[in-house]
Amino acid sequence: STSLVWFRRDLRNYDHAALYYALKTSQQVYCVFVFDTEILNHLPDKADRRVEFIWESVKELKAALQQHGSDLIVLHGMAQHEVPQLAQALKAQAVFTNHDYEPSAITRDTQVAQQLQTHQIDFHHYKDQVIFEKDEILTMAHKPYSVFTPYKNTWLKTVNDFYLKPYPVDRYLGNLAKLEPQTLTSLESLGFQRTNLSSMRLPTGMSGAATLFTDFIERIKHYKEARDFPAVKGASYLSVHLRFGTISIRQLARTALQIGGFGAETWASELIWRDFYFQILHHNPQLATGKAFKPEFESIPFPNDSALFSAWCEGKTGYPLVDAAMRQLNNTGFMHNRLRMVAASFLVKDLLIDWRWGERYFAEKLIDFDFSANNGGWQWAASTGCDAQPWFRIFNPMTQSERFDGHGKFIRKYVTELARCSDKEIHAPWLISAQRQTSINTVIGQDYPKPIVDHATQRERALSLYKNTV
Ligand code: FAD
Repeated sequence: STSLVWFRRDLRNYDHAALYYALKTSQQVYCVFVFDTEILNHLPDKADRRVEFIWESVKELKAALQQHGSDLIVLHGMAQHEVPQLAQALKAQAVFTNHDYEPSAITRDTQVAQQLQTHQIDFHHYKDQVIFEKDEILTMAHKPYSVFTPYKNTWLKTVNDFYLKPYPVDRYLGNLAKLEPQTLTSLESLGFQRTNLSSMRLPTGMSGAATLFTDFIERIKHYKEARDFPAVKGASYLSVHLRFGTISIRQLARTALQIGGFGAETWASELIWRDFYFQILHHNPQLATGKAFKPEFESIPFPNDSALFSAWCEGKTGYPLVDAAMRQLNNTGFMHNRLRMVAASFLVKDLLIDWRWGERYFAEKLIDFDFSANNGGWQWAASTGCDAQPWFRIFNPMTQSERFDGHGKFIRKYVTELARCSDKEIHAPWLISAQRQTSINTVIGQDYPKPIVDHATQRERALSLYKNTV
């Protein structure tokens, strides 16, 4: 029989559920990736690192399939039309794909399934990008979890080799359909431009993911101590690879659980957070329409000052750690986890701007943007989410800066205007005397902004805003 594997956020040719089942059950397996205009047309910036990352990763996957005398068919159009049309043209009896949990993707997949059905083509779909999905981890009362720690405990109790073992795709690669190799045209043909991605230390594709993972395994035992410091290479930097499936979650979870110890266990916990937020979205699809997880926080009357919002976006708030974070995001598409928490908290509880504005900005800029993790992170910071930061806990941006970037190494990298400040001055440059400003040739209010709001005042305003809502 003939089948078609539709790749989406799973750009690899090993340990891949849909590819495995297709190859195991069909003698002739074609592979396709669609640059979906429904998604691409909504991207405001035509120099988008994600599109370039996908482009490069697709190129590598294509080359890998060509090694087996086959190819990855690459199309550009609406997936709802392209996939059924191709399946028909190839006379495929079935299309195989992996689950995507975002409501818009579910709608798209339902439409594809309907179209295929009218032509008697089967649509098979599998869990692939998480260890546990949907209803696999439930409370004793068979209810979904909305608190992380008990979810994690059940996750750890349930996980075993069955869930972690790789799909042995290799055994069946002989069933890939023979195809004449086609070269990819160019990123520009999609209407997109190159970005600074190639100058960043972020290698693409399966090979890039493997390089980063090997490097991280050397450091994993220090993860717990190092992960919170943005100037230290402490995390894995694998989020974009998990986003586009250039590495297998089973491989990562298996390795972390095998290694054990504080570092690997803490890291495994982060992978579990990822599963946690996916299942939160599955059980709460209303989140995708902008709803707060906790209904009592649905309509906090945020003042939403658009000038303050612009300053935050541009990294010009006068709070060095927040500005460094936002400039890292703008310049690289990445932001360190500690800084995502600090920048998000600052937007909501210092600038008093609706978390949805920040969520949208991150969604536009983050190379690893993933709806469930981003929404989860924002609602955590805004205290509107499941298992969120309590509303009366408000990060102090100076204290965060002193604790997590004590020598200002990270700040100096992105806020070069403050490079001449001492380690002490750099966290609150508005306190530097006029005389000292002259001697270090850094005038606050001219070379670098004065704080756009006063933290102590805004903290009180935020507390009363939340207090009056609950
Ligand atoms: P590591 O520390 O090496 O962690 C390993 C992996 O675990 C990550 O790659 C990621 O897949 C997962 N992970 C880690 N922390 C979390 C978390 N809190 N929630 C869910 N998964 C997690 N992560 C995204 O992947 N996409 C997003 O769009 C995203 N938006 C965020 C927005 C906010 C406001 C906050 C506070 C966090 C957000 N995160 C998001 C989570 C986290 O910041 C990133 O996953 C992490 O910084 C990526 O770096 P890393 O791969 O080096 O992480």
